[in-house]
Amino acid sequence: MTDVKTHNGSCRCGAVAFEVDADLEGLIECNCSHCYRKGLVLKFVTPDAFRLKAGEDAQTEHTFNTHKIVHLFCKTCGVQSFARGVAPDGSSMVAVNVRTLTDVEPWSWTAQRVDGRSF
Ligand SMILES: [Zn+2]
Repeated sequence: MTDVKTHNGSCRCGAVAFEVDADLEGLIECNCSHCYRKGLVLKFVTPDAFRLKAGEDAQTEHTFNTHKIVHLFCKTCGVQSFARGVAPDGSSMVAVNVRTLTDVEPWSWTAQRVDGRSF
């Protein structure tokens, strides 16, 4: 099965910090107008697996299209650590940017390319 661990993550300047319980399976890179520009590598988790430790007020947000996903990013350094959203089935989810996990070796993961641009 999968290897779920508690990972730490943060934005570049550290104003935003979080913990997430996740494995590094099923990661996606998306080519939509937003994700592709930001280079996001996303892991989707349920809200109970995600704990924001700092930075609730340090972030600002961006939404577009159907506005179902709230992309949050640090007001100081601009890094997007995660997004909050609603899955097609109506359940809440958090999309964590794997590139902001501080205890994961860069490029130790592989991500599936998803054609979000065509959705
Ligand atoms: Zn920051």
